[in-house]
This record gives sequence, structure tokens and C-alpha cells, in this order.
Amino acid sequence: MRILIVEDEPTLQSQLAQSVREAGYAVDVASNGVDAHFQGDTEPYDAVVLDLGLPQMDGITVLRKWRASGRSMPVLILTARDGWHEKVSGIDAGADDYLTKPFHMEELLARLRGLIRRAGGHASAELVCGPLTLDTRNSRAVVDGQTLTLTSHEYRVLAYLMHHRDEVVSRSDLVEHIYAQDYDRDSNTVEVFIARLRKKLPAGLISTVRGLGYRLSADA
Ligand code: CA
Repeated sequence: MRILIVEDEPTLQSQLAQSVREAGYAVDVASNGVDAHFQGDTEPYDAVVLDLGLPQMDGITVLRKWRASGRSMPVLILTARDGWHEKVSGIDAGADDYLTKPFHMEELLARLRGLIRRAGGHASAELVCGPLTLDTRNSRAVVDGQTLTLTSHEYRVLAYLMHHRDEVVSRSDLVEHIYAQDYDRDSNTVEVFIARLRKKLPAGLISTVRGLGYRLSADA
């Protein structure tokens, strides 16, 4: 899953980016409203963390413009303390959740997980597919009681497939959702990650749909 973090305060931005990355997501950042609007309008993010007080274009305007052009990714807004009116206008502008500064990183990560889960129609933080369980709270994949050892990219591929289980996911979908924007992308590496995951997972869990992509399903 790939997240856009919009925050103009450099220290907070890098703390956010690091924590969200460590939680298993690909992360892009923006430091002003104009860049944020462009990135959110052109890249397929699974969720956005949006500070409202931004240079060049304020967060509420950015959000309104996204929603007006049909961008429906979940958005978590960051509001100032005592800014109840900001929360109201943020939610009215299309925010899915909010967090008041200062906040605990754990709470931000929990809210982010909740938003991504609900956007995919999943009720629980634990995603299950046959013998495989993915606990999004600790980025852990377990098969029959055994925790899998996964690299960060293998985890991202598996997490994306689990959030879209029983659906056909194309290679380009995977590329767009597992890599940050500045990453040197190579769609051939997706095949490598899939091959490695297949060795670690029960046989048949990930099937290839010829010409279309991959499907994670328990009833293959
Ligand atoms: Ca700010």
C-alpha cells in the first residue's frame, strides 16, 4: 500500500515518513499544497495524511479539489489543537478521519490502518486467506502458526494482494502500490517478489492469470 504524506514542517514530515514506512507502506511526501494536489491527482494512493495549514494552497482547498475531480482515496487530516471548526470544514470537504496535533504516532498508524481496511471493505485488522493470516497491526504474515520472514517489498506485495484477495491484480497495479515515486521502478522485480512469495506460501495461493496479472485466493 502506498501513502502520501503532506506536511510542511520538516521534522514532523520526516518522522511521519519514517514511521509509516516502518509500518510496511511505500511513502511519498509533499511539503506544499500545490505539489500535494498534483501528486494526489495523478498517483494512485491507498491513503493520504494531509496537514491543513500548508504553504501555496491550504489543505481544505487541496482536498476539495481532489474530491471535485473524483479522487476518492481515504484522507486523514491533521488539525491544530482547538481547531474544531477545521475538523468540521475538513470533514465537509471530504476527509475520512482527523487527528489533532500533537498526536501519538501509534494512533496515526491505527487510524491509517482503519481507513485502508474500510476502503477495501475489510472489517478486521487481520486479513485471512485460507491458511494465511496477515496482521496489519504488526506487519506479520503467519501460515499455520509459523511467522513468515519477508523483506519489506515482499511484505508490500503480499499486503496489497491480501487487501485485494480474490481479485486479479495486474503487475502495473503492484508496481504503483509498492514503490514510492522516487524509487527506481522495474516491473520485472515484481515477478521476482511473486516467485519468492510463492516459495514461502502454501502452493497454489497465488495464481497467475495469463496476460492480466495475479490473484491471491484460497479456493484455487
Ligand atoms: Ca502546517
